[in-house]
Amino acid sequence: MELKILGSSSHGNGYILEADNEALIIEAGVKLLEAKKAINFNLSKVVGCLVSHQHNDHAGNALEYASAGVIVLALPEVIIAKNIERNYKTIEFGKGYKMGNFKILPFELMHDVPCAGFLIEHPQSGKVLFITDTYACKYRFTGLSHILIEANYADDILTDNILEGRLPQVMRKRLLTSHMEIESTKEFLRSSDLKQVRNIVLLHLSDGNSNEKRFVDECKAVTGKKVVAANAGMVIQFGALPL
Ligand SMILES: [Zn+2]
Ligand SMILES: [Zn+2]
Repeated sequence: MELKILGSSSHGNGYILEADNEALIIEAGVKLLEAKKAINFNLSKVVGCLVSHQHNDHAGNALEYASAGVIVLALPEVIIAKNIERNYKTIEFGKGYKMGNFKILPFELMHDVPCAGFLIEHPQSGKVLFITDTYACKYRFTGLSHILIEANYADDILTDNILEGRLPQVMRKRLLTSHMEIESTKEFLRSSDLKQVRNIVLLHLSDGNSNEKRFVDECKAVTGKKVVAANAGMVIQFGALPL
């Protein structure tokens, strides 16, 4: 299994879990063409596209994906907001879904609109956890092989930006109840079962309120694991066996 990163920011999110004979797209925030390029235009190997929530950096191209025949799995709010009329499945929390050999368990996150995280299992990757656009996660998971988790901002960098007049005060209030602060990311990792984890991938770093090197170093220090920040164009080996 390979993880291919098409984009991971407020400008557009897109990720592909690509196995030998099938691929699962996560988020529809980049143009379908970018996803096609990443899989050598072999769209027939795509078994579906998971969409976490209705914001355009995650769902902006969901209708384009569905229109091309990609089954979109998303909350009802997303299907309605994006006018998707065919090639979709709606998420009900507590239910599991199967797309090809990918088993998917959506769970509720805490954003400013309804938002889903995903526990994804495939024989070639083991359990993959995907969490973004949430200020916290009330669940913990065991036996994970790979973790993709938002590390959006650092409160001290944000506060400096506000004090220096680069950002309005109201920004802090919004972020506190919508996105993952680095200390929350670290707390989640610290309190998770990391025994079998091979990769931790930090998602959706803010343009102005984050520091990539610091975030990666801090998460490495807390977990003792391989940590990278997601950037467009990256390909990461997502094998199933523990290192
Ligand atoms: Zn977002
Ligand atoms: Zn959002």
